[in-house]
Amino acid sequence: MNLPHFRNEPLSDFKGNPEHARKMKEALRDVAQELGLQYDLVIGGERVSTAEKITSFNPARKSQAVGHFSKATPELADRAIQAAEDAFRCWKREPVEKRVKLLLETARIIREKKFYYAAWICYEVGKTWPEADADVAEAIDFVEFYAREMVRLSKPHPLIPVPGEKNYLQYIPLGVGVVIPPWNFPLAITAGMTTASIVTGNTVVLKPSSDSPTVAYKFFEALEEAGMPPGVVNFLPGLGSAVGDYLVAHPRTRFVAFTGSKDVGLRINELASKRAPGQIWVKRTVLEMGGKDSIVIDSETDLDLAVEGVVTSAFGFQGQKCSACSRAIVVDAVYDAFLSKLKERVAKIRVGAPDDPESDMGPVINSKAKKTILEYIETGKKEGRVIVGGGEVSGSGHYLEPTVIADVAPKARVAQEEIFGPVLSVIKAANFEDALEIANNTEYGLTGAVYTKNRRKLEKAAEEFHVGNLYFNRKCTGALVGGHPFGGFNMSGTDSKAGGFDYLLLFTQGKTIAEKISF
Ligand code: NAP
Repeated sequence: MNLPHFRNEPLSDFKGNPEHARKMKEALRDVAQELGLQYDLVIGGERVSTAEKITSFNPARKSQAVGHFSKATPELADRAIQAAEDAFRCWKREPVEKRVKLLLETARIIREKKFYYAAWICYEVGKTWPEADADVAEAIDFVEFYAREMVRLSKPHPLIPVPGEKNYLQYIPLGVGVVIPPWNFPLAITAGMTTASIVTGNTVVLKPSSDSPTVAYKFFEALEEAGMPPGVVNFLPGLGSAVGDYLVAHPRTRFVAFTGSKDVGLRINELASKRAPGQIWVKRTVLEMGGKDSIVIDSETDLDLAVEGVVTSAFGFQGQKCSACSRAIVVDAVYDAFLSKLKERVAKIRVGAPDDPESDMGPVINSKAKKTILEYIETGKKEGRVIVGGGEVSGSGHYLEPTVIADVAPKARVAQEEIFGPVLSVIKAANFEDALEIANNTEYGLTGAVYTKNRRKLEKAAEEFHVGNLYFNRKCTGALVGGHPFGGFNMSGTDSKAGGFDYLLLFTQGKTIAEKISF
């Protein structure tokens, strides 16, 4: 199977291309007509309705329901695992071409309606136009990339020849997987983990985040439209704390692909490691977790460039990215100059409704998140000096000001714990070496960046800055599929490198076959 080379999906240009802006407005109008509908679970291709519901709300208009979802119970989770197991028997034997074609067709469907998907993302999680568009582009990239990767994986793999034998290695699927995505990349991460699982021949139960089930359902519909056989993906919204635990602990679950917080990731790791009665394998877990990401600003740098990189990384999507910069570590010699430029730049950020193209920052995801972030800001007021923001923004949604806390000590709580909101701590370092030491002083290790023109310092950072995704003289968010395989160290997860050449192997097991041919 020969496919054209992979290329990243181009981003829309809402400011420069009036056609893109017109299509986005139209999609927002269309999707507005579909808000608040009821959705069922889908088990083995069959729609299943329950009396109890989960409702997702628009974070920009607190009382506006985006979708009402049937809510899984342990009994329904059992049925979903059974349906996935039944489908696995056929799906694992399907020719690779068929599985690859399913992905390519899914990518085509999403691409064709990319503004429609972006509009759903805008309403359900509060992404601004460019952020929602980037989420859709990344979803398309994952699906296209994993399709090509499966073609590569299905080709013969080199082995050292053994005299008198014919030997070969095949990568075969694992079995039934449970896919648990977060809400913050509701399309991209859902699509990435799900398609990596199924293109390798597994079948899955997809338990979406309770904050973004509609976007996940829209993705599921694209799979169905693309011709996915019933039961290959089973759509099972339900509370993580109830049905999530149940699915992870289930004896027929072979692997769990999770992206989310450290605490939930660790819980899944622990639950999955316990053998359930009747379980005959060691469960595999692919866990991508939180971050406390730093940008180091050296004295030998263009401060305007550094400020722009920090602001984009810290406040893009309201700081709700695992890769978001939440610590700027600035060398003493340029600390005051950096702070004054930063303050001026952050003050220009416009907070407002994400469906308004003039907004730079929308709301945070829900009232619980807003409360937690405000508590961190209060802690930050004691641990440092708030120089911009520090409070709520009035309006119909969960809006917060972009907040900068200066003079934070390296081990302060706001410098150590993931806040997952628009809060940036600025830490002073004595020199570049000290800055690198501070950058490594958390339990996480996801992304980081360094701004310096000094080559020797970049080389030192390449060796010593211990993160899975390190960037030089650019922002620390915006990893591109193929170009920046993504995943973190330490408490940031199992370093799966999503969007990279090693990723699909995590969803397979290698089978070596050797036949004696000369006696
Ligand atoms: P979360 O609270 O950990 O939830 C993630 C998913 O886990 C949701 O689907 C959730 O379902 C489910 N869940 C909750 N408790 C569970 C349990 N006991 N068993 C099984 N599943 C359970 O995280 P989030 O708030 O959605 O996402 C934000 C976090 O994700 C941040 O920490 C961020 O850094 C991290 N993240 C990491 C990456 C990465 O690549 N490293 C990428 C994106 C986000 P419910 O919604 O029903 O609770």
